[in-house]
Amino acid sequence: MAWFRACQRDLPWRRTRDPYAIWISEIMLQQTQVKTVIPYWERWMRELPTIRTLAEAKPERVLKLWEGLGYYSRARNLQAAATQIVNTHDGEFPRRYEDILNLPGIGRYTAGAVASIAFGQPTPLVDGNVARVLCRVLGLRGDPKSKETSAALWETAGGLVQAAHANEACSELNQGLMELGATICLPRGPLCAHCPVQSRCYAYQNNCVAELPEVAARPQTTARIFRAAIISSGEKILLRQRPPDVVNARFWELPNLEVTVSESASETLYKLARVKMEIAKPVCVIKHTITRYRIQTEVYETNSGTSISGGNFFTRRELHDIPIVSFHRKALQKIGLV
Ligand code: SF4
Repeated sequence: MAWFRACQRDLPWRRTRDPYAIWISEIMLQQTQVKTVIPYWERWMRELPTIRTLAEAKPERVLKLWEGLGYYSRARNLQAAATQIVNTHDGEFPRRYEDILNLPGIGRYTAGAVASIAFGQPTPLVDGNVARVLCRVLGLRGDPKSKETSAALWETAGGLVQAAHANEACSELNQGLMELGATICLPRGPLCAHCPVQSRCYAYQNNCVAELPEVAARPQTTARIFRAAIISSGEKILLRQRPPDVVNARFWELPNLEVTVSESASETLYKLARVKMEIAKPVCVIKHTITRYRIQTEVYETNSGTSISGGNFFTRRELHDIPIVSFHRKALQKIGLV
C-alpha cells in the first residue's frame, strides 16, 4: 500500500471518487490497455458525464463513443445498468455490494473494484494481474481459472482487503495489487529487483518465477477469410447494419462474406451485390484477431453495385457520425474516405 501511494501511475480516473467514473474506467479496461482507454474515457466523461446522461443517450451515440474498444455488449450493458440505476436508485450509484452486483454487465470483479475504490468497502477483486501477483507471492499452484485455484485466490484477496479495512485502505490495497501486476510483476520478465514484496515472495525466493502462475495452454487459433466491398454511388458509400443479437450488433459494416480458399473474388463480389469483377479493384487486406480467430479481410472497391438487404448509402460526413465496425473503418481510412 505504501508502494502504491508512492509509485502509482497518474491516471485520470484515479483523480476522482465518483463511482460512475470509476465504473466506466473499469469496464473499459477489461481486455484493453490503459493507454488506449485514456482518450476513450476522457471523451466519454465529457459527453456523458452522469448516469442520467448515459441512461438518456441514444444507443447509437453510446456505441459511437465505444467504437474501436470492441466487445460492444459492454457498452450496451453500461446503458442498461444506467437505466436500472435511474429507475431503482433514483440515479445514484448504489453503495450496497449486492445492489452493484445486480446491475447488468457487472460481475464480482467490477463490483469489488467500484465498492472498494469509490466507497472504501472491504470487497475483494481478482483480475489477471492480481491472480499473477498472488500466485507468485504465495506460491499458489494450479491454473488461476480453475475452480479450486480461483476460489483460493478470491479467499486470499478477501482476507487481504479485510485486513486493509482496519487502516481504511481497501482502495489502496486492491489498486496496489493490480498496479503491481500491471507495472512490476509482469507476465514475462517481471521486475523483481524493483518489487516492494520481493523479500516475501515465494516465487522469487524459490527461483520459480517463470513457472507461476500455471496458466493452461491457450486453444489454437483458427484462420478465417472474408471479402468486403466498398461500393460507392456518386459521393455515397454503401454500408449495411449488423442485426441485433450478433457480435457488433447494430454497427454498420461494409458488405462482406466469409469465403473458402477456393472461392474466387469475382464469385464473392457478385454474390455480395452483383458487382462485376472487371470493375472492382483490390484496395487492401485488413488483419485482426478476435478471441481465437485470426481474421483476414480482403477489401475491393467499385463504383457499381446494387443495394443490399439492410444496406444504406452514406455521405462521407455521415460516415463520421455512425458507429462502424472498427476494422472496416480502417479500410475506409486507407482509401481516405473517413
Ligand atoms: Fe512478482 Fe518478482 Fe515481485 Fe515476486 S518478487 S511479486 S515475482 S515482481
